[in-house]
Amino acid sequence: MMQPIQKFFPKLTTPAKVVIVTHQKPDGDAMGSSLGLYHFLIQFSHQVTVISPTNWAGFLNWMPACDKVINFEQKEAICKQIIAEADIIFCLDFNVLYRTKHVAPEIEKASAIKILIDHHQEPQTEAFDFGISDTTKSSTCEMVYDFIVNSGYQHTINIDIATCLYTGTMTDTGSFRFPSTTASVHTMVAYFKSIGLQHTPIHEHIYDNFLESRLRFIGFVLSNRMEVLYEYNTAIMYVYKQDLQKYNIKTGDTEGLVNYLLTIEGIKLAAIVIDRNEERKWSFRSKGNFDVNTFARQHFEGGGHANAAGGRSDETVDETVQRFKQILKQYEQTLQ
Ligand code: 5GP
Ligand code: MN
Repeated sequence: MMQPIQKFFPKLTTPAKVVIVTHQKPDGDAMGSSLGLYHFLIQFSHQVTVISPTNWAGFLNWMPACDKVINFEQKEAICKQIIAEADIIFCLDFNVLYRTKHVAPEIEKASAIKILIDHHQEPQTEAFDFGISDTTKSSTCEMVYDFIVNSGYQHTINIDIATCLYTGTMTDTGSFRFPSTTASVHTMVAYFKSIGLQHTPIHEHIYDNFLESRLRFIGFVLSNRMEVLYEYNTAIMYVYKQDLQKYNIKTGDTEGLVNYLLTIEGIKLAAIVIDRNEERKWSFRSKGNFDVNTFARQHFEGGGHANAAGGRSDETVDETVQRFKQILKQYEQTLQ
């Protein structure tokens, strides 16, 4: 059974072989929390390796030590060995092991102490020795900050740690606008500012660093691949493989696209499905009480948070969109 993370604190400073793993296609919070923890742990002479199950968005590459992150799909043999030999494995920003794709069986097999730090609903606690799961937290980055502060090491927070943790908190809170943005979040950011963090370049790295083709792609999708279903206060987008190819769309280029749908007055549920290689990947966002975590879990093999979740389907884009529309009928009342 997963023990409270405080019970792990006494082991924190004993040099060990540490692996940090996050979910596949890591976003700002996954990468930020992993690298923030990396910059914290290396101060105790741990041997620390950050492993990403897959590649990640190019707009994260500027992050301090991002060049040290190993892509499991590119260096499978080395990663398997590092995981097998690890003393401690930190699992950040995911609730269920399958979110680490092909890394999951390696984590399961490993003899290391396994630690979860995460803010998603319904964590697979039996898979971890120590951990903290708090769905009220804005981001895993904020939880890594709490981990550092609560273990008594706030004074070790340097600009690299602050930069990484700010990044993920910023991306997971929609630039500090979602309800998860508590006083604690702003207190943390105030601390980062007090030690000299410059936040403006971080926003520019993440949001103002794309190619022209991505903006034209968004224009194309908004004009040609969007439907507003006013009777359900729902808007959807669907992106075919040929659309991605035409605009040379890379990992991360489609992130945030779903949020445009929520800018339409009255929309409570937004959904986008993108034709990825192995599957059709859904993203769901909602405003107010509509719980997309449960929705994604029940209908699209997914999950996440109440207002932001993801899912998948083996159907074609058109089939899964049709099914989504059918499913919506049962939520007509809830979405009013
Ligand atoms: P996104 O739509 O940005 O990919 O994901 C939204 C939220 O849902 C994120 O917190 C992400 O970690 C989570 N999520 C996305 N896809 C899945 C999935 O297939 N399963 C689960 N359990 N969570 C997901
Ligand atoms: Mn997160």
